[in-house]
Amino acid sequence: MPKIKSSRTKRAPEGFDDIEPTLREFQTKMKDGKKIEALWPIFRLHHQRSRYVYELYYKREAISKELYEYLLKQGYADANLIAKWKKAGYEKVCCLRCIQPKDTNFGTTCVCRVPRDKLEDGKVIECIHCGCRGCSSGSGASAGSAATHKGKPAAESNDA
Ligand SMILES: [Zn+2]
Ligand SMILES: [Zn+2]
Repeated sequence: MPKIKSSRTKRAPEGFDDIEPTLREFQTKMKDGKKIEALWPIFRLHHQRSRYVYELYYKREAISKELYEYLLKQGYADANLIAKWKKAGYEKVCCLRCIQPKDTNFGTTCVCRVPRDKLEDGKVIECIHCGCRGCSSGSGASAGSAATHKGKPAAESNDA
């Protein structure tokens, strides 16, 4: 079958070709931005659900190991995230993306992981990944957790 050449692309004015890549880049970024923000509520729910399961088992001891493991297996909680919460300095981490050194908006650590006293006053904390407004263990926010550890690292750079 012979290919039919359609004339669907109108010739753009001269010079368009030069700026097109940049325009496209903007467009992609805007789309990405929208997409990421739309995911924030999902990230939060994901976090809350894992947190619920985590607290049921580790803090309140309200469920059996068997049930806990079942919930993990069924995907009701994120085992990787929970594994982080068990580590000093990571007790409140919001999502796994925020502790990946690359792809963050505050040096090597996501802004939401930076303790409040290390940020300039009035600086808006809003994680680009999940919309988190601060999950550093050192920030002493109201996220009431009885578990506090001593000697937590000020910033997480490497992860064993
Ligand atoms: Zn966070
Ligand atoms: Zn996050």
